[in-house]
Amino acid sequence: MDQLHTALGSLKLLRTSVGQIFETLGGGIRIEHGEEHGENKFLHELQELLTLTNTHLRDLESTINSLSTPPAPLTLGNTSFLTQELSQDRQALYSQLVNSYKWIDKVHEYGSIASTVLHSNSLKRSFNNNSNKRRRPLVSCHNIPPTHFENVLTSNCLSDMTINITRPHARNAIVYITLGRVLKAALIFKGIMIEWVTVKGYDETFDDDLWAESRHQVFRKVQDHTHSAMLHFYSPTLPDLAVKFFMAWLHSYIKLFSEPCKKCGKHLLNSYPPTWRDFRILDSAFHEECK
Ligand SMILES: [Zn+2]
Repeated sequence: MDQLHTALGSLKLLRTSVGQIFETLGGGIRIEHGEEHGENKFLHELQELLTLTNTHLRDLESTINSLSTPPAPLTLGNTSFLTQELSQDRQALYSQLVNSYKWIDKVHEYGSIASTVLHSNSLKRSFNNNSNKRRRPLVSCHNIPPTHFENVLTSNCLSDMTINITRPHARNAIVYITLGRVLKAALIFKGIMIEWVTVKGYDETFDDDLWAESRHQVFRKVQDHTHSAMLHFYSPTLPDLAVKFFMAWLHSYIKLFSEPCKKCGKHLLNSYPPTWRDFRILDSAFHEECK
């Protein structure tokens, strides 16, 4: 094993020095070579690099020669039992297994890099960092009793709105909202915070996939706007109010197909009704182009 490691080490060295050669060649004559004898110095540098590469190549050759062929294939734990497999098509599992080991290693590596990057990111949606001690005590948005959740939802349910609260995954609720005969929305909650919204037409269902988009372009546009609204009204300190404002805002879509645009006064622009609703002035409809 040690020999293999040294061989791999010298292979790495060789690759680095070859890489250096190409880098120097690509860079050409640089300022630090001086103006007068620049060419000579450049060639000299190149020659040195080539000699170095030669040495590395010789090192690699000698380490490879000292390697002995392994007596048996390298085993990875219990994978050696795979050789006892009689069925032909399952014998190929070994190489697939090695590949998946490699993948898992990569996933671990990328995962740890991602975690360091994300930890340094200050744009956190949750208030986990209690660095500011003077901040008032936080209401937990994730762990709220179901009765309170239902109260908040039903008290903010406006006319022409029907809501149906389901809890397929124990704590976190999915709320289905039907708005008149215009649209349907599925609100996926985490605690009392809205995590995702899917908007569909009145004639569509959420049966097959909660995340699948509507087959109508207009509701896909509305869905995009609900996501902006979800982030706009988001407030971890006053989560109940965030839900209240969001519901009121969503309710303004009751006139999606009947209200003209506030700016251009038309019902249709580029074949779309006014799909945008202002966050502050509710019931003000705008085309995406007119907002
Ligand atoms: Zn308009």
